[in-house]
Amino acid sequence: AAKAANKGGVMYFSREMNNHLQESMWLDGGLRQALQEGQFSLHYQPQVCLRSMQAASVEALIRWQSTERGMVPPLSFIRYAEDSGLIKQIGRWVIREAMAQARRWSTLPQPLRISVNLSARQLGDPELLSDFMAAMQQHGFTQSPLDIELTESCIASDEARTIEIMSAMRALGVNIHLDDFGTGYSSLSQLTRLPLQVIKMDQSFIRAIPADARSMALLRSMVAVAQQLDFQIVAEGVETDSQLDFIREIGVDLAQGYHFARPMPADQLEQWLRQHGKP
Ligand code: C2E
Ligand code: MG
Ligand code: MG
Ligand code: MG
Repeated sequence: AAKAANKGGVMYFSREMNNHLQESMWLDGGLRQALQEGQFSLHYQPQVCLRSMQAASVEALIRWQSTERGMVPPLSFIRYAEDSGLIKQIGRWVIREAMAQARRWSTLPQPLRISVNLSARQLGDPELLSDFMAAMQQHGFTQSPLDIELTESCIASDEARTIEIMSAMRALGVNIHLDDFGTGYSSLSQLTRLPLQVIKMDQSFIRAIPADARSMALLRSMVAVAQQLDFQIVAEGVETDSQLDFIREIGVDLAQGYHFARPMPADQLEQWLRQHGKP
């Protein structure tokens, strides 16, 4: 029923289409305003090394404080930002902000790498590399303090071009993480063609612990293969002791999730680091 009918020059939309259109228009105006008025911020969530039980890195996650709607979660605007192309500007802001934060954290006794999420659309942006290098230069970095998280959909579109841009980022000192692994269609053997260092097992596999034996078996074998291929392995969405016990037993290297900490503003993360032995 979601079909527009043109009757005598007037367009009639179904309620569903109308809602979607209105939401898109709201997001378009809202996101542009957010960029101009500085309504975005980054929250940081620790990634804990299961050997030392210390935070080795943090993931930067975007937050939007809208004047009209309060905190808007990324899942309700990233998709529109991707479709409209606004993700390029938003992503550029994320890279600059994370780079500035990395400079502020460069005085910590131990290095803390920051991972930023990149959309497929950003990877295809010819200005990504020059923007990234400009941000590094602005904050005096010759080697990148930032790593990037890509999803399988980034790779699916144009593999040759993706490998080219990934290699260029590698040369700047960026480690490349594959996010949400296991939800797409790529196999671990395909991944060996790509210059990846880290595989993040999707939250759905972690959520399956301890009830879903088949998913757990799948996770165990994926981790075993990833280990053989020398990838570092991160488990995301770790919430409980039993999940932590299981991922440790099967050889996961790093864990991220509410069990350790929620994503939080930079100053709260510094406090968290002090309380959890690092620095
Ligand atoms: P993601 O990259 O897979 O990030 C992990 C998501 O899981 C985050 O949601 C995080 O808050 C949430 N999470 C972490 N630990 C737990 C846990 O123990 N349990 C549960 N239930 N959830 C947990 P968030 O911040 O809402 O972000 C959602 C997605 O939005 C991200 O998924 C990523 O795909 C996208 N995103 C976030 N920030 C950015 C950004 O700066 N740029 C782009 N392109 N995408 C972003
Ligand atoms: Mg991520
Ligand atoms: Mg993820
Ligand atoms: Mg995701």
